[in-house]
Amino acid sequence: MKKACVIGWPVSHSRSPLIHNYWLKKYGLEGLYERREVEPEHLSEFLRNLGANGYVGCNVTIPHKEAALQVIQNIDDIVRRTGSLNTVWVENGQQQATSTDGEGFYRNLLACVPGFSIVGKSVIVLGAGGSAKAIIERLLRAGVGEIAVLNRSAGRVEELKAVFGPQIRTLTPDRFVSESKAASLLVNTTSQGMKGQPPLDIDLSALPPNAVVADLVYVPLETQLLKAAKARGLQVAGGLGMLLHQAVDGFEKWFGLRPEVTNELYDYIARDIVKDAQ
Ligand code: NDP
Repeated sequence: MKKACVIGWPVSHSRSPLIHNYWLKKYGLEGLYERREVEPEHLSEFLRNLGANGYVGCNVTIPHKEAALQVIQNIDDIVRRTGSLNTVWVENGQQQATSTDGEGFYRNLLACVPGFSIVGKSVIVLGAGGSAKAIIERLLRAGVGEIAVLNRSAGRVEELKAVFGPQIRTLTPDRFVSESKAASLLVNTTSQGMKGQPPLDIDLSALPPNAVVADLVYVPLETQLLKAAKARGLQVAGGLGMLLHQAVDGFEKWFGLRPEVTNELYDYIARDIVKDAQ
């Protein structure tokens, strides 16, 4: 029986087992997806022995997404550019890794707003952490015009500029409203608005009527940001959709079948999140 897992420290919060085991059952595949708590000092040993321990691959979550790079033999361009990985599989006896967060974000965006094109457009990204990097990398490959990044710590935006080049600009809070007039997409990649975190309080009034607002946060399912965007009549893309779409590539690599992100799966995971958000 093929087995995959998610490794993190802690890992109890991860919804990946629910998603992958749902697909295994739905498609009648013999397989299992487990949670494995791996302490940072045991990370390289665990990854080196992944196959020997009976796994065809794993997801890698906090705090191992960057450290795992040191151990995996073959990383792709996405990992090289973003400096982090979340999906590992074994091919011809060698470990391979990619990061599916950017792809999950992009596919969910297109699923939520069919026909949306980012080519040549201006985007505002709130936050400059790991997920911001993944999204910026994907938007650049999709042909985005420019990306203005607003972050609490200015130093991290400088890092993004160094990695991704002149299409990345710094946005300061005092210029947010005036610059949002030209934005086709606004993405929150900070943890603000998440249950237990400070709220995200920004003024969406100047965004164009056809702008899209995306939030990576999925607890709660509908954040204040998404509520405010909907109240203005804007189209939105939520964090749960991204979480589901980012899982597709890993499942296909491990279990050999490309799974579908359906409303039924969305509702199944949403029920679990609603329990958590109460
Ligand atoms: P990081 O820790 O790498 O980055 C966090 C970012 O949030 C930084 O830019 C940080 O700013 C900012 N931030 C945190 N707290 C505050 C605050 N109180 N005020 C202002 N800015 C703040 O995290 P990730 O990028 O990995 O994850 C960010 C969010 O995205 C999380 O909520 C995570 O759950 C979610 N996520 C969702 C995914 C999905 O599939 N839906 C996938 C991956 C992540 P600074 O640099 O100043 O510290």
